[in-house]
Amino acid sequence: ADRRECDINEELANMVTLLSAQARGCGVSLELSRGTVPRLVADPEKLRQAFLNLMLNAIQASAEGGSVQVATSFDREAGLVEIRISDQGAGIAPDAIAQIFEPFFTTKGSGTGLGLPITKKIIEGHGGSVEVTSEPGKGATFKVRIPAGE
Ligand code: ADP
Ligand code: MG
Repeated sequence: ADRRECDINEELANMVTLLSAQARGCGVSLELSRGTVPRLVADPEKLRQAFLNLMLNAIQASAEGGSVQVATSFDREAGLVEIRISDQGAGIAPDAIAQIFEPFFTTKGSGTGLGLPITKKIIEGHGGSVEVTSEPGKGATFKVRIPAGE
């Protein structure tokens, strides 16, 4: 793959800028909280695709007046950069949570159900993981962990 050193905070900041007009159009605020994180050795285009999926899902899940928070941090002991995307939407039903990473699973009228499986594949291709937690009625949080670049 096309790997190079990349600054995940900068990539995410660019994406937040790109998506902010769309979010505002839905009455949703989109905010990035940057932690101090080391550089990643990654394919930046692939990472952008993965985080685009997660941010679009979060915006789509949000009601007017909602907010989507993107935050980065570093787990020094584990050597993992963490990126969390949280929304205050309807959340994910317990019986759906096991299926959302399966291809073609969608609860949207015109969804493809491909965003999350592609996202998972990209992150795992970088040696990382994606986890979701959700409290129905209160929102969902996707936590991505990627090993820091050596
Ligand atoms: P699509 O967006 O085309 O439906 P995805 O693979 O991106 O496909 O997502 C699959 C399903 O996971 C969505 O249809 C939705 O049911 C659920 N989902 C994903 N992200 C969220 C979220 N932030 N809040 C609530 N449900 C979500
Ligand atoms: Mg999607």
